[in-house]
Amino acid sequence: MNILVTGGAGYIGSHTVKMLNKMGKNVVAYDNLVKGHKDAVKCDVFVKGDIFDSELLEDTIKKYNIDSVIHFAAYSLVGESMEKPMMYYKNNVEGTLNLLEVMLKNGVKNLVFSSTAAVYGEPERVPITEDLPKNPTNVYGRTKLIMEGAMEDYSRSYGLNYIALRYFNACGADEEGDIGEDHNPESHLIPLVLQAALGKRDSIKIFGDDYPTNDGTCIRDYIHVNDLAMAHYLALEALINGHKSDVYNLGNGVGFSVKEIIDAAEEVVGHPIKREIVSRRPGDPAILIASSEKIKNDLGWKTKYTDIKEIIRTAYIWHKNNPNGYDDK
Ligand code: UDP
Repeated sequence: MNILVTGGAGYIGSHTVKMLNKMGKNVVAYDNLVKGHKDAVKCDVFVKGDIFDSELLEDTIKKYNIDSVIHFAAYSLVGESMEKPMMYYKNNVEGTLNLLEVMLKNGVKNLVFSSTAAVYGEPERVPITEDLPKNPTNVYGRTKLIMEGAMEDYSRSYGLNYIALRYFNACGADEEGDIGEDHNPESHLIPLVLQAALGKRDSIKIFGDDYPTNDGTCIRDYIHVNDLAMAHYLALEALINGHKSDVYNLGNGVGFSVKEIIDAAEEVVGHPIKREIVSRRPGDPAILIASSEKIKNDLGWKTKYTDIKEIIRTAYIWHKNNPNGYDDK
């Protein structure tokens, strides 16, 4: 396996690169470093490049004899996607189409694709199984759904073998403490809660407490980033062993409300965290909880991290030791 990981310097990408590297796989991390961090790349080969740069992509595929791609490089913020849809269509759709074209032109047919729970929108029931209707409520989810459709078509017409992984809420950090979550600006719940706990911000703002849930705040399924990383390896191995193109959810199957996450974080850090209720964030569905039975049954995926406090603890270690993220390196 010679694997090209686009977005290999990003949050989930860097955890996957590190895991694959530890397993002895040949990994080439490819990232334009617009959002990613060079210090997050824990493998021997890093190429600074953009997924729109067909020539560099082609050279990289040839030089390192790439046979498989894991494609993370994308914009992934719900709120931002609602404000800047053009940026999301351009990068997530056009950029991915470009990557697919270069891959296929060079005979690379195995692809693991980062998709998202946001493709479902407001689900008609939970836990969400892969067959439920896809009605994204935000631009980010829609760009990913469009690419799932394109890959299905390319699979039929050009022999692309892909597995799309629909992540629920990625969180936590590698336990060795050398990589973690660092977005600028940060918009994800757990890092923001921990930044508030560490005095990096005044409070955590809760986006709406009038949702149809037990405590009125949104419920999400939080999954540790290393459990996600492992799923990418299993998916790639399955493709190489002849598994046909497919789509899988990745979550813990348990939902936590925003308030419950803050409560759990308070227990981890050992003191209260100031919170305030503000208005809803556009595009947020009330409840997203995954059924991950399909990938467990088909590929033998198991979650190592199931306790939310344990997950938050891994993130806390990273944030405490690197309050300014990779700028501290
Ligand atoms: N959230 C919040 N305050 C924040 C950030 C997020 O209340 O400062 C909520 C958000 O509305 C959602 C949940 O926390 O219900 C998880 O949001 P996040 O952005 O982490 O992930 P997403 O679900 O958008 O992928």
